Amino acid sequence: MSLGAMDIFKFLPAGKKETNANCKKCGCATCMMFALKLSKSQVESSLCPYIPSELSDKLEHNKKVQQETVLLGNLKIGGETVLYRHEKTFVNPCALCVCLDSEDKEFESKLKRILDFEFESIGKKYRVDAIYLKNPTDESVQKIKSSGIEVLNDDFLSKLKEVEFKGLAQTVDELVKIRTKAIVDRDENYSKPVFVRLFGDDFCSLCSIASSLICKYSNMIIFEYFDEALFASLITLRVNIYTDPQKPLQVESKVYEFNNPDENALVFMTTNFALSYFAVANELSSLKCGSYLVITPSEGMSVLTAWSAQKITADIASRVVSASNILNKVKNKQLIIPGLLSDLKDELQEVLPEWKIVVGTTEAYKIPEFVRELQKSSS
Ligand code: SF4
Repeated sequence: MSLGAMDIFKFLPAGKKETNANCKKCGCATCMMFALKLSKSQVESSLCPYIPSELSDKLEHNKKVQQETVLLGNLKIGGETVLYRHEKTFVNPCALCVCLDSEDKEFESKLKRILDFEFESIGKKYRVDAIYLKNPTDESVQKIKSSGIEVLNDDFLSKLKEVEFKGLAQTVDELVKIRTKAIVDRDENYSKPVFVRLFGDDFCSLCSIASSLICKYSNMIIFEYFDEALFASLITLRVNIYTDPQKPLQVESKVYEFNNPDENALVFMTTNFALSYFAVANELSSLKCGSYLVITPSEGMSVLTAWSAQKITADIASRVVSASNILNKVKNKQLIIPGLLSDLKDELQEVLPEWKIVVGTTEAYKIPEFVRELQKSSS
């Protein structure tokens, strides 16, 4: 575990309420400031003459690498520094790989399915991370590499530690032990990233086992079996685990267009929280009519959170709508706001008098029905 400012501060003179507290010899105004900088490795501990040996030992111990990072082309494996994502963030997603034998008579068709597989989640495209080739030929290796997918080889695998699958409970126990030794104890014997090979072709069993291994704590899984739905499910889980909790997923604040909007297009608005955007965008794409979606700059907060934190206000919304020039692009000047922002309707109506503010749905999936009703009532 890394040492936080408070962990360090309690060893310093101010933390121990000693007379030489805050003496400024280190160049910092206070011991707390020094502790903060030391926790971020912005200063050397030797600048304070009062550091006790217990703290020096802890700082020295903390310099040891917890888990190594191993590179294969664009694929990065390992490098984790925390046991739980909420402590900071996980770094490199568990790589999902497939093993293929180029002497298998179905090799070409199996390879084609893997190379063709592409899955989009929250605006990002994902593929199989790497292929481990048994009996590789130059031609097959070249074909995989030119598709942008990495080829695993034994040299690369030797930089990782293989954990043999011996049933789910026993394997997870082993992975937890290894990760704890690496992260908490900084034990060099456990600093290699780990991988597990999964055999068999039972979809449900592979899906549940691999899900557990992604959560705790395999850095890479090699499957003998490939299935698009299996990989799509596992990638969805992985995306959720490996997002950085310190950085809300957000999209650019601007006006997005769906289905070639013309003057009859509808105009919707929501915040720049990525999940809100994609939920609404999916529904707007499915409509038969064109539409605009105005995205406000709300620091990646969902609608209700942004409203509570004053990150979406009538002024912010009106600035984005006014700057977008959509007023001149549509005949029906209705601005459809999220149902959760109904309390903002009157204020918005005041600052955007050219628009009719309409309260939309609280859930994105209700948008198609809402639009049908809206079009019925205006026809
Ligand atoms: Fe505190 Fe800095 Fe003085 Fe050490 S040198 S006692 S950290 S102010």
